[in-house]
Amino acid sequence: MQEQRELISRAARCLLAARYAIALTGAGISTESGIPDFRGPSGVWTKDPEAERRAYASYDRFVADPKGWWEDRFFGKSVLGEVASASPNAGHLALAELEQIGLLKCVITQNVDGLDEKAGTRRLIEYHGNIHKLRCMACDTRFAMEDYDMAKLLEEDMLPPKCTGCGGVVKTDGVMFGEPIPQKVALESDEETRKCDLMLICGTSAVVYPFAYLPHSARSSGKAITIVEINAEPTPLGSEGISDFLIQGKTGEVLPALVAEVKRLRK
Ligand code: NAD
Repeated sequence: MQEQRELISRAARCLLAARYAIALTGAGISTESGIPDFRGPSGVWTKDPEAERRAYASYDRFVADPKGWWEDRFFGKSVLGEVASASPNAGHLALAELEQIGLLKCVITQNVDGLDEKAGTRRLIEYHGNIHKLRCMACDTRFAMEDYDMAKLLEEDMLPPKCTGCGGVVKTDGVMFGEPIPQKVALESDEETRKCDLMLICGTSAVVYPFAYLPHSARSSGKAITIVEINAEPTPLGSEGISDFLIQGKTGEVLPALVAEVKRLRK
């Protein structure tokens, strides 16, 4: 505990000294909102390895048969549970507060749950999209779920939904395994990575690529950068010498403590 407090204080000093700090987040930051991660001790894939195989097959299935995919979606259950009714937790709110007090410039999240937006984060890049939105596969235009009456399309045998702009096939905005990252999102994330001199990496196993390249490319750019991990368990970023240090613990506890320490040091 003493060690954790010292590391939080070290991270707070790094934040105060940084010119351009950004945060990268993963499924771990949302577990305290009741949304399971994939690879943590109670993760969806840890408990059901078959779910991992299904997830990897999903994109190919969508491309081969978007109509069948959308029809199945009506009757299937999300592996992430009741995401729509979930609320941001103290970790999401702490990141939003760091942005609000001017210490954090951007959050790049792998999460598809929309909780950073609900928490009030303004400069947000949803690297893997948002499952509450839709996206045209041809022109990348995003739509709100409410823009389409899916039940009516199902009833009239008109699935998959089509883009009102270009007529392309519309899928959920959430990026599936094997699906390319939308170009604009990838470019903006690279830009933020190039600009930052402090990267806070919160609640990710850091094994999903290309997202996991971001800390690697920040480290190999040759510029002076501090990379801090906040995670329940060690990740390859530590053993591969990418991160400078790990604050081991829950993001819902460590991040608010970091905000409190920053405020104390600023007085
Ligand atoms: P992951 O499941 O691979 O790893 C989560 C990591 O967070 C683990 O190391 C775990 O120990 C840690 N963790 C769990 N709870 C924590 C907590 N309270 N505090 C700190 N650490 C905690 O997740 P990932 O690296 O984000 O990769 C999974 C992929 O699946 C992502 O690309 C994401 O798009 C998707 N996903 C999203 C959600 C979501 O939107 N909430 C949920 C599950 C998976």
